[in-house]
Amino acid sequence: MISQQTNIDKSDFDRRAAALLRRFYGYSEFRPGQLEIIRAVAAEKRDALVLMPTGGGKSMCYQLPALLSDGCAVVVSPLIALMHDQVSALVANGIPAATVNSNIDEQVNMRRMDQFFAGRVKLLYISPERLLAEMDHWPATVPVSLIAIDEAHCISQWGHDFRPVYTKLSHLKNRFPDIPLLALTATADRLTRSDIAMQLGLRSPLIWTGSFDRPNLSLKVLPNPGKTRRVAYICDMIDRHRDDAGIVYSISRKATESLHDELVRRGYKSVCYHAGMSAEDREASQRKFINGDAQVVCATVAFGMGIDKSNIRWVIHANLPANIESYYQEIGRAGRDGMPAETILFYSFADIATRRSFIEESGQPMLNLQKLNRMKEYAEAPVCRRRILLNYFGEHVDCDCGNCDVCLDPPERFDGTILVQKALSAIIRTQQKVGALMLIDILRGSARTELVARGFDKIKTYGVGRDMSFAQWNAYLSQMLQLGFIDIAYEDSNRLRVTASGLRVLKGETSATLARFVEEKRSPGARRNRVAETGVPLSPNEELLSLLKAVRRKVADAEGVPAYIVFSDATLADMSARRPRNAADFTEVHGVGERKTKRYWLPFVNAIREFDGLAPFVLKSKQ
Ligand code: ADP
Ligand code: ZN
Repeated sequence: MISQQTNIDKSDFDRRAAALLRRFYGYSEFRPGQLEIIRAVAAEKRDALVLMPTGGGKSMCYQLPALLSDGCAVVVSPLIALMHDQVSALVANGIPAATVNSNIDEQVNMRRMDQFFAGRVKLLYISPERLLAEMDHWPATVPVSLIAIDEAHCISQWGHDFRPVYTKLSHLKNRFPDIPLLALTATADRLTRSDIAMQLGLRSPLIWTGSFDRPNLSLKVLPNPGKTRRVAYICDMIDRHRDDAGIVYSISRKATESLHDELVRRGYKSVCYHAGMSAEDREASQRKFINGDAQVVCATVAFGMGIDKSNIRWVIHANLPANIESYYQEIGRAGRDGMPAETILFYSFADIATRRSFIEESGQPMLNLQKLNRMKEYAEAPVCRRRILLNYFGEHVDCDCGNCDVCLDPPERFDGTILVQKALSAIIRTQQKVGALMLIDILRGSARTELVARGFDKIKTYGVGRDMSFAQWNAYLSQMLQLGFIDIAYEDSNRLRVTASGLRVLKGETSATLARFVEEKRSPGARRNRVAETGVPLSPNEELLSLLKAVRRKVADAEGVPAYIVFSDATLADMSARRPRNAADFTEVHGVGERKTKRYWLPFVNAIREFDGLAPFVLKSKQ
C-alpha cells in the first residue's frame, strides 16, 4: 500500500519534472542521470554528488529542482563570466534568475539580494567569497530551497584546480543543516571525490557518475608539422567554421601570444588568454569569445573552466597536454550541444621535454611524470583513441568508436628497417650528442650555421634523408621512440640515444615495422570547401541552416546577447530539418520552450516560409 503510494507520487513527480523541461527548455527528455538527481534533491531533499563530463547537463540538475521547489536555489560558482551566461540563458527561457558579484554596481547587487530575500528569484548565482561573507547575516526566513556547488573539485587539494576559499564552504552544512547540498564537477578521481563529500559534510549523498563518453567529439592526433604548417592548419580550421568558434591551447604564454599575433596579422578575429594577463584583460578576452566577437581564443590551460558556450566546434592542442584529465576536459569544451565537433592534438618530442622540465619544478614529480607518460602513450598509440580515454576513466569499452583517426584511417604498415637505420646511424655518428631537431636537420642536409659549425655536414649520413619532409621524420622518430629503438636523455639536453634493441636493428639483426605517415596538405574538411568553391551548391538543408544562422545573428544583435543564448546550433539544425511553418510547429523544435516560442517564432518561421516559397505572416500593428 505504502509503496504503491510512493509509486504514484514518483510518477506524478516525474510528470511534473518532464512538463517543466518541455515548457521552459523545449527538451523532450532527460539526459541519463538527470531525473535521478532531480528526484534526490527536490523530492527526497537529499544531498548529492554529481560527476558528469563537461556538456553532460549538470546545470539542469539544480535548475529543475529550483523550478520544482518553493524558494530559491543558491548556486555557488567560481567564475563570474559563467554566472552571467547562465543567468542570461535562464532569463531568455523565462526563468527569474540573478547573479550578485563583485563586477556589478553594489546598489544593483543590493537590489537583487532584496529580491532574493523576498522570494522573487528562482536561482541566485553567487561567488563563494560573497556567500561566505554574507550568509550568516541573512534573515532567518531566507527562502533557500537548495544549494548547488559548481566546480566542486576546487575544494580538494587532490584535484587539479584547488581554490583555498572553497574549503570554507564546509561551513555551509552548519549554516543550512536542512537544505539539500548538491556538489557538481566534471573531473574528480576517486580520491578527490571522497574528499569533496567529506569536506562539504554531505549526508549519505546520492553519488552519480555519468558516462564520460562524448561520441560527438572526433579525436585526432597529428605529428607536429612545424610552426608554419601548424598555423596554416589552424587558419584552415577557422575558415571551415566561419560562424562558430574554437580554442587553441598552447604550452606557454609566449607561444599563445605569438600565435594570437600571427592570426590577427592574417585578419582573423582572435583573442588571447593566459595567467600572465591582468584580470580585466582576461575577462575582456573571455567576454569577446563568448559573445561571438572572436572566432578563436589562443590560450593556455588557464582558459576555460566554466566556459558554457555551446557552439565551440573545435579545439586544437598545439602541444601535448600535461595529462589525460586536462586534455579530456579541454577538448570537452567543444560540442556541448551534442553536435559534431573536431579535436586535434599536435604532438612532438619537444613537448615532452618541455613538460618534463615543468614537472621537475612541480610539487609531485613522480605522479606527474606517470600522468605525462599516459598522455604520451595516448598520443602514440595505434589503437582506438576513445577506448584509451574511456579505459583511463575506468569505463570499460570493448568496441572501437569509429570517430577517431585510428578507427577512420587505420595506419598502413611497412618495412621501415632502412629508414630506421639511417636515423640510428646518424645518431651514432654524432656521438649521441644531438636532439631530435638537429638530427632531422642532419638527415635532411640542412646548411644551418650551428650544424656546419659542429661539423655535422661532414658525417657520412648527412643528407641521406632528403627525400622526406621534416614532418615525416618527426613522425617516424616518434615511432622509433615508441618502439624502443631510441630514447631521450631528458637529464642531458634531450639528446637522443640508441637503445640495445635499436642497435640490433642497426646491425640488421632485426627488422622494424613502421606505420605509414601520410602527410596532410590541408585539414580534412578542406576538400569539402574546395567542392563548394568549385560551384557545387550546398544541400537545401545546409542552405536553410545558414539562413537561420543569419536570422539568429540579427535577433541576437538586436537584443544585445550572444547568438547561442537565442538558440543553440542543435536547435537550428533541428529547425532546418523540421521546417516549422507556424507557431505551433515551432514549439516542437528541440530546445524551444514556451518563452522562446512567443519571442522568436515569427522571424524564424517567416525565414523558413520564404525559403519554401510561402507567403510570410504579417502581424497587424496595434494602432
Ligand atoms: P555541464 O554543466 O554539465 O557542462 P550544461 O549544463 O551546460 O553542461 O549542459 C550542456 C548543454 O546541454 C546545454 O546547452 C543544455 O541546455 C543542454 N541540455 C541539458 N539537459 C538537456 C536535456 N535533457 N536535453 C537536451 N539538452 C540538454
Ligand atoms: Zn576510435
